[in-house]
Amino acid sequence: MAGLLLKNVAKLYPNGGVGVKDISMEIADGEFAVLAGPAGSGKSTLLRMIGGLEDISQGDIYIGGVRVNDLEPRDRGVAMIFRNYILYPQMTVYENLAFGLRLSGCGKDEIHERVTETAKLLEITELLDLPSEQVTGIDRYKVAVGRAVARKPKVLLMDDPMLCVDGELRREMREGLAELYRHLGVTVIYVTEDAGEAMALGTRLVVIRDGALEQTGTPEEVYEKPINRFVAEYFGDPAINVLEAMVGEENGRAVLTVAGSHGVFSEENSRRLLAAGYAGKEITVGVRPEDIHCEPECLERFSDNLIDACADVYETAGDAAYMSFRVGSYTMKAKVPQSAGIRPGDEVKLAVDPSRVYIFDKDTQKAI
Ligand code: ADP
Ligand code: MG
Repeated sequence: MAGLLLKNVAKLYPNGGVGVKDISMEIADGEFAVLAGPAGSGKSTLLRMIGGLEDISQGDIYIGGVRVNDLEPRDRGVAMIFRNYILYPQMTVYENLAFGLRLSGCGKDEIHERVTETAKLLEITELLDLPSEQVTGIDRYKVAVGRAVARKPKVLLMDDPMLCVDGELRREMREGLAELYRHLGVTVIYVTEDAGEAMALGTRLVVIRDGALEQTGTPEEVYEKPINRFVAEYFGDPAINVLEAMVGEENGRAVLTVAGSHGVFSEENSRRLLAAGYAGKEITVGVRPEDIHCEPECLERFSDNLIDACADVYETAGDAAYMSFRVGSYTMKAKVPQSAGIRPGDEVKLAVDPSRVYIFDKDTQKAI
C-alpha cells in the first residue's frame, strides 16, 4: 500500500507567506494524481513537503500508511523529477542510472539488473555507454526519469517537467510518461499549470487555488461536475461560456432569461433552483462550447433554448473548429462544424442543450 494521505497539511513560510492552507486528501495506491492550479497556488510547496524538501508547518503526511513528517527524503520511498532535470555530465548514462542505487547500498549485480531493466523499459539501452552530456532531447528526459525510477520508488513526484518544452517533444514526453506509468504501477504525483495536460495524464485531479484544495476527482468528474465557477473555467479549451441569467418560474418549472433570450432549465436544475429559492434572482450560468449547436436537428430538439447570435470569427483549436458569436453584450464560443457554412456577420440561432448547463450562485460562485 503506497497511497498518500494528507491530514490538515499547511505551510507557512518564515517570511509570513502562505504556501498551503490546511489541505486534507487521499491518493490511492497506483493513482496518477495531478496537482493542477494557477501559478502561485501552492502546488510546488505541497509536492516539496511530500518529498521532504520542505518542513511541514502543520498536519501530517503518510506514505503507504507510514507518517513521514520526520523522515529524510531518501527514507520516504519517493523519487523526484524536476523541471531542470540535470544529469551528472561526466558520467555515462549507465552511471547516471546506477548512482542512486549505489548510494542506497545496492550490490553490483542488483544495480546491473535494475539499470538494464530500466533502460529497456525506457528504450535507452543503446545509450547506456554514452557520456550523458552527449544525450539530447527526449532521451535526456528519459535518462532523468530512468534515474528516478531505477530505485523503484513507491511514489514518483514530478514538478511541471514539461513547462519549458513545446510542440512535438512535449507530446512525446507526455505519451512516454503515460506509457511508463502503465508499466511501472507506481503512484505518481504530478504538478502542472496546464489544464489540458492535467486532463490528459491524470487518473485523479487535485485542483488547488490560493493554497487551498478546490476539488478532487477523476478528470470526468471535475469537468462534468465542477464544484464552482473557477474549476469550470479552469478546465476546457476554449473555456466554458459564463453569463448572468435571471431565474423565473413558469408552471412550476424554472426558466431563465439570458442576454435577451428565454429558455428553460433541465428538470434537475429546475428542481434545485426552485428548492433553493432562486426564482426571481440572478445566477451565473455556464455552457461549454461543445454544448452549443447550430445544426437544424438540434435547433428542433432544443427548441425551448434558442439564442439569437451574430457570427464573429472562426478559429481552429486542435482538431476542432470554434466560432465566436456576439450574443447581447457577451461573446460566446461554440464548437461549430465547418460544414454548417456559417460566415462572419451571419445572424443565426444557436441551440443549447439544457442538460449541459452549469448553474452557479452569483455571489459565492459555487455550483448550485
Ligand atoms: P506553485 O508551485 O503552485 O506555482 P508555490 O508552491 O511555488 O506555487 O507557491 C505558493 C505560495 O507560496 C506563493 O504565494 C509563493 O509566493 C509562496 N512561496 C513559495 N516558496 C516560498 C519561499 N521559499 N518563501 C516564501 N514564500 C514562498
Ligand atoms: Mg511551482
